[in-house]
Amino acid sequence: MSEQTRFKAILLLGGPGCGKGTQGAVIGGFEHLCHLAMGDIFRALDKESDIGKEFLSYSTKGLLVPDELTVRVWKAHVDGRVASGDISRERHVLLLDGIPRTTDQVELMGAHVEILKVVHLVIRDQVILVERLKGRALKGSRPDDANDDVIRERLRVYDESTAPVLRAYNPSLIAEVNADQSPFAVLRDLSDCLAACVPTTL
Ligand code: ADP
Repeated sequence: MSEQTRFKAILLLGGPGCGKGTQGAVIGGFEHLCHLAMGDIFRALDKESDIGKEFLSYSTKGLLVPDELTVRVWKAHVDGRVASGDISRERHVLLLDGIPRTTDQVELMGAHVEILKVVHLVIRDQVILVERLKGRALKGSRPDDANDDVIRERLRVYDESTAPVLRAYNPSLIAEVNADQSPFAVLRDLSDCLAACVPTTL
């Protein structure tokens, strides 16, 4: 992908329990937005392939996959969808979820995407957040979330790893959405934000 042919993209950032998955699924259903979650792209790899095995060798240890490989897998996925006519640079804005996660990935992705906005879903009230995550754990989706200390550690790691990615973007590109509200209110604020930056010509 050359400079002129980069995809336009929105980067969706948000820590555990912020509702990013829910919001990404809803707005990713809009006709001209394509939601791309890096974790899903990795999990869709053939587990018997070399690249699939390499992914598992990292993810099963809780490690991030190396940057070059991550961006290569992402690009191969996007190229495949372009080739099949599923998405195009003219008609789609990509909604990036889970990539870039490091400053080196910010750099590498710069060759492929033009970031229109970095939307950060933020929950300020840690008490609400911890209760939300515990509620989710009780439903069985993430049993490791049942413990307060584990939750606080996950939140700390998220803040620590996200801060450099946020700093890598021009502050004028960053929008904070208060995720400390009902899903509908978050969706409304997120929609306002996207309405202001997604081209109306799509
Ligand atoms: P999690 O929130 O547990 O990291 P994800 O679904 O986002 O879940 O990712 C699953 C795994 O895929 C991660 O643990 C990591 O090994 C890999 N992964 C996802 N996104 C990236 C990325 N941007 N860079 C490197 N590795 C990634």
